[in-house]
Amino acid sequence: MKNNQFTIQDPRSQYQMSDTEKDSEQPDPGLDEILKPKADHGEDTYLGSGRLKGRKALITGGDSGIGRAVAIAFAREGADVVINYLPSEEEDANDTLDILKASGINAFGIPGDISDEDFCKSLVTKSAENLGSIDILVNNAGKQQFVADLEDLSTEQFCQTYATNVFGMFWITKAAVKHMPPGASIINSTSIQSYQPSAGLLDYASTKGAITSFTKGLAKMLIDRGIRVNGVAPGPIWTPLQQSGGQPAKKLPKFGENVPIGRPGQPAELAPVYVYLASQESSYVTAEIMGVTGGQHLP
Ligand code: NAD
Ligand code: MG
Repeated sequence: MKNNQFTIQDPRSQYQMSDTEKDSEQPDPGLDEILKPKADHGEDTYLGSGRLKGRKALITGGDSGIGRAVAIAFAREGADVVINYLPSEEEDANDTLDILKASGINAFGIPGDISDEDFCKSLVTKSAENLGSIDILVNNAGKQQFVADLEDLSTEQFCQTYATNVFGMFWITKAAVKHMPPGASIINSTSIQSYQPSAGLLDYASTKGAITSFTKGLAKMLIDRGIRVNGVAPGPIWTPLQQSGGQPAKKLPKFGENVPIGRPGQPAELAPVYVYLASQESSYVTAEIMGVTGGQHLP
């Protein structure tokens, strides 16, 4: 590895992304396989140091984007990992699983739709069977579809965004806690949208508000069992979510350029925060939301 996550670099120029093809579009859910330009998930940069040795982790949306970067980091820190994803994302999932297994840990893929309660229960049961326990749960899967006008936002989309982003998190968490020992950690992917909602992301942004509140309330509930619960609020990150309807095509070329650092973040830049929140290093941190926003900061 030439550079790794510890190499000193100017954060403004750390990632030079070509402007061509940024406005490419793809169907929902998007694939990293066809994301243009490609994103960095730490494949060639994330260096592990045993911070999660022997831990067992379930990561939803672990096939691509932020979830893939988190899965790679967890595996390189020594954790066994289950990733969940939609069946249509098998290609991304297989690529991710190959990278995870190269770390010498156990990695499993369980496809299925988390907007279905029965699937959520079976995902947790199968994960616990494969892993032996669940020490880390990352509720990261999410749906985001941009709709400019209120009249065009359908009940179907509104319900599906809530079912995926909020209900799925609730069903998986409820099923998972009985497999979680004291010292376990739950990490929810919320968003800057929870605090600064954009017009056009009404359903999505309001689910992120719900995730932020759920995270803080659940933390107070579960500390009685020694389980910590935190959230990560990313700013604009270059992932397939954006090119598959998360943003209108005309906004993609300048995506992320209005934050103080002046560029979108890469999934790899999120992973260290998830590692910190998963590991015992964050033993006194619960009910917290950590921003990774390029300077757009949480209130
Ligand atoms: P991504 O498309 O790579 O990941 C989202 C994942 O969600 C998909 O891979 C898919 O597997 C999963 N998913 C969606 N619907 C599902 C369903 N019904 N059942 C099972 N899985 C489902 O994009 P990403 O940007 O890495 O998103 C990861 C998380 O980060 C999401 O919660 C997203 O809201 C959040 N986030 C992203 C950004 C950003 O700018 N990219 C910013 C803030 C928050
Ligand atoms: Mg995906």
